[in-house]
Amino acid sequence: MTAARRIVVSGRVQGVGFRPFVYRLAHDLGVKGTVRNGAGRVFIEAEGAADILDAFTEKLIAAAPPLSRPAIAETAACASSGTRNFEIVASQSGETPMIALPPDLFLCDDCLAELMNPAERRAGYPFINCTQCGPRYTIIESLPYDRPNTSMNGFPLCPDCRAEYENPRDRRFHAEPLACAVCGPTLFFTENGRKIMGNDAALGACVTRLRSGGIVAVKGVGGYHLMCDPKSDDAISRLRERKHRPTKPFAVMFPFAGTDGLDVARRYVEFDEVSATDCASPERPIVLAKKKSPGDFSQDVAPGLSEFGVFLPYAPLHFLLLAAFDGPLIATSGNVSGEPVLTDNDEAEQRLGAVADAFLHHDRPIVRPADDSVVRVIKGAARPIRLGRGMAPAEISLSDELRRPVIAAGGHMKNAIALGVGVRAIVSPHIGDLDSPRSVSVFERSIADLQRLYGVSAEAIICDAHEGYASTRWARNGSLPVISVQHHRAHASALAGEHPHSWRWLTFTWDGVGLGDDKMLWGGEAFLGRPGAWKRVASWRPFHLSGGDKAGREPWRSAAALLWEDDVSMRFKADPDGLARSAWRRGANVYESSAVGRLFDAAACLVLGIEKASFEGEGPMMLESIADDSERTIELPMTCDAKGVLRSDWAPLLEMLRDKSIEPAKRAGIFHASLAGAIGAQARLIARQHCFDAIGLAGGVFQNRKLAELAIALLGKEGFSAFLPKLTPANDGGLAFGQIVEAGALMRDDAI
Ligand SMILES: [Zn+2]
Ligand SMILES: [Zn+2]
Repeated sequence: MTAARRIVVSGRVQGVGFRPFVYRLAHDLGVKGTVRNGAGRVFIEAEGAADILDAFTEKLIAAAPPLSRPAIAETAACASSGTRNFEIVASQSGETPMIALPPDLFLCDDCLAELMNPAERRAGYPFINCTQCGPRYTIIESLPYDRPNTSMNGFPLCPDCRAEYENPRDRRFHAEPLACAVCGPTLFFTENGRKIMGNDAALGACVTRLRSGGIVAVKGVGGYHLMCDPKSDDAISRLRERKHRPTKPFAVMFPFAGTDGLDVARRYVEFDEVSATDCASPERPIVLAKKKSPGDFSQDVAPGLSEFGVFLPYAPLHFLLLAAFDGPLIATSGNVSGEPVLTDNDEAEQRLGAVADAFLHHDRPIVRPADDSVVRVIKGAARPIRLGRGMAPAEISLSDELRRPVIAAGGHMKNAIALGVGVRAIVSPHIGDLDSPRSVSVFERSIADLQRLYGVSAEAIICDAHEGYASTRWARNGSLPVISVQHHRAHASALAGEHPHSWRWLTFTWDGVGLGDDKMLWGGEAFLGRPGAWKRVASWRPFHLSGGDKAGREPWRSAAALLWEDDVSMRFKADPDGLARSAWRRGANVYESSAVGRLFDAAACLVLGIEKASFEGEGPMMLESIADDSERTIELPMTCDAKGVLRSDWAPLLEMLRDKSIEPAKRAGIFHASLAGAIGAQARLIARQHCFDAIGLAGGVFQNRKLAELAIALLGKEGFSAFLPKLTPANDGGLAFGQIVEAGALMRDDAI
């Protein structure tokens, strides 16, 4: 008895080889009918015995390609068409496609096996790929995602590749970046004007240079990496000196070894189950993992920190390079500090010429940069620190439909932008700090690109309230209406946007600094409410920060602000003649702040003597690294200010932080526990007067695992459920998404 069934599959089913998979599955089971794409979903008409159709439907999900995330949206009986075949049919015209720009993918297991098998025609070919793997976002010039619309359009397929490309039963059927050594991209190596052409020769020259302690800029998927031997003190110190990066930790790429790929990495770091799974996932992010004893690595890979970034090869080129080098390699972004990663061969030679000893280039153009993603496991889940290659563009569903399409311009540091349309928010990969013309130009291009690729024209721009941000200036200079969203409300809304089931939040938004409603530098605020309706209910005792933007890189200024505020005198090396103190007294270039990021800076300065930092957040990271598991907390008194905002006082911490009779690890531990205690105390008091159903922890301070986990444990004991962001970074990289959620709610409530 044959039946006919119509099955609609939704979810991530585009650009991941889903139709060819359906085709092969139907042929394997003897199912007749058709499959076609339409409006972002896949429509199947299937005919066969009822039990076969059941098995077919089940396998559509159970045996789906690894990168797809299908869901059966609908099944219904339909009329039999009497077809004797199963075919892929063209999309019906007139449908508005629901476009999705796929992120760049890792090298799949099947292609890895071919890469390493000398009998295969693509053995050792650094650009092998299939429908399940290879570049996407960084090669797409326009949509639909077809080869002529990618940067592979300059590489006509050879007859062998074409046969695979056109055969629906082949796993490379319509693999758009398809290539082989005959027809595809090629490597070349350059050093001091010397050029070595050809995949094997160029790779060999690169490995030789790395072995002799050289620094090589290697072009990958979304840009260049600067690579060198993590065991060579000399190579690392040259890289640090040339990149003007004295202490910021470097990520290390490990050769893929063992069943989950992590055998070599495990010799150097400890993985828990979540971090191991994430490190080996198709997204292949950099995972922050706990150092084991230093082993044979240079001490300078991540000086002073208990963790460093670990990742596995993702492009076939990386697999070959790491295997040939036979050991891990430092692989840090090939960029000028804070800028987007470099992508163009000539520009890389020019701008990295003073950093790299040599270059391993290839001739596949990178259409737009995508830096590596970075995640950290906090409270049992991998949380993005940076959304990049493999994870972005990230699509996040909105619980309410936007009234009109919008672009969110994000913040200034760690900028990422987002497009909002209908019930979708699309978050770009990390762009960088918008301090340089190149960063701003990539920022502007990303905004134009997202709209063009998705076929959407924004009707409003959302930006931060800080007029000094390059992203805000860009928004103000345009012709579209601008919606300004206060920094910390955007952080609170980003988290709320991930959990639409919670109706009323108490969200702590702790970060470096952001501009407040009263023009003060906020960063220790708690808000009650929901997107579009946040009320500031708690904060910290304000202190007066001198030096303006310099404060983030000069923790001594934060320490001084607290001590001077409390009339404690202390000399700082950075202010030998007391000039800064006099200026502070006069109130020159001094801003009122309540930022917890600055309290961390102050603590790092007092406990560890870090007066100046070479990158923002260095002091707090070091402080977290050494902190012990102290249970001792110092209770911080709370008062209510004239506006009814509850304020915790940091002053009782100062004596402990300066007490040299207590070990630094202990002082750091007490500091963390006391700040977690302040969250608990504020929450308890607010809960007496207001009701809320969830507590949020948002803002860059909550990338601190110790603080976040202590706070969640403490809140849990009191019966509160607390959440951290998981889809976007807690830091300013998550602002753009929060801006969309917040502005979306404002547009609905006030019809702006
Ligand atoms: Zn593959
Ligand atoms: Zn070919």
